[in-house]
Amino acid sequence: MPERPGEPPPGATLSLQTIEPTTAGHGFISGVLSAILGIAGFGAVLCLHFPEYLTHADLRRFYLLGYLRAAIHVTLVASFLLGTISACLRANKALALTGIGFTLAAALLGGSQVPVAGDASASGSWLGLDFFVLNLLLYSAVFIPLERLFALRADQPVFRRQWVVDLTYFFVNSLLIEVLTILTLTPALIFFGWARVGWVSDTVASMPLWLQVPALLLVADFTQYWVHRTFHVVPALWRFHAIHHSIEQMDWLAGSRLHLVDVIVTRGLTYVPIFVLGFSEAALMVYVFLVAAQATFIHANVRWEFRPLRRLVATPAFHHWHHSAERDAVNRNFSVHTPVWDLLFGTYYLPDRWPAAYGLNDRRDVPARWVTQLVDPFRNRGGQ
Ligand SMILES: [Zn+2]
Ligand SMILES: [Zn+2]
Repeated sequence: MPERPGEPPPGATLSLQTIEPTTAGHGFISGVLSAILGIAGFGAVLCLHFPEYLTHADLRRFYLLGYLRAAIHVTLVASFLLGTISACLRANKALALTGIGFTLAAALLGGSQVPVAGDASASGSWLGLDFFVLNLLLYSAVFIPLERLFALRADQPVFRRQWVVDLTYFFVNSLLIEVLTILTLTPALIFFGWARVGWVSDTVASMPLWLQVPALLLVADFTQYWVHRTFHVVPALWRFHAIHHSIEQMDWLAGSRLHLVDVIVTRGLTYVPIFVLGFSEAALMVYVFLVAAQATFIHANVRWEFRPLRRLVATPAFHHWHHSAERDAVNRNFSVHTPVWDLLFGTYYLPDRWPAAYGLNDRRDVPARWVTQLVDPFRNRGGQ
């Protein structure tokens, strides 16, 4: 009996011996492919580093570096994904670790974007595989132990229901980091340059960072509050945001479940006042890091309540209630950083308990896969 994907097999091992089945569905084929592609990708990245030693002079003239870089990227992505699949299906993790290990080493060495002398295609990367790998390692190293040690729902496993779809969101949103940044920053730069007032942006940019960052968080959260609230009340937009609210088990990974339209519109509009007011690049960098960390944390399966700070800082309890289907909790707690805006605009809701359940109570089932969720809001015109 093949084990069900999404449930880790008991007793993980590392062995060179193959005693488990090698037929389809047992993680052997994916493990072998992962190891091969990982090693190949790693070798290709070494070639980018040392073309004079590792590549043939006559062949080098025929390489189209742009295509080669894309091929290396695809190889590394495939190795990582196949390794993950194998690790889930197979008790012996040797193959999966080989593939993922080489992929990670290749990513740390610069991945497919290693500059090569005399090549212009190195500038501008379109896929952030390395960003995905590092992001995943960083977040899982922090949040998986936290959620084990301080679990709100201790019976909820790491590989809970629908973790695959949420990991896919995490993967796609990290991989597209470059594209999403361009798509969300460019509209503010192109369409709102006229709105900048010289002395205002000069004053803001010259403020010290310790003042700029909280100011930026307040401004960003104000915009985000109203965009988020609009996504809830306008039916055409709710179809996109409902994907996020289809989460039924909360944890750090669940927060990644955001439709691309939701991501692009929300981020794009949030950047407008940040750009118009002229916050410095350093403040923006701090903000980008903080918003990612806090948006992840408020979904986490942790029982901390931060009671003294609960009216000042958006906490897991605050955002867990945003995901509750209880009637009193619907359309509440829209902020990401501080509940100040919810308190001010009358949407703050934080009782002295945790929600019993999460999800949607007003519409048909949201499909279970990333691709079907992507097309779902476009397909269901006029119907809840
Ligand atoms: Zn919402
Ligand atoms: Zn959420």
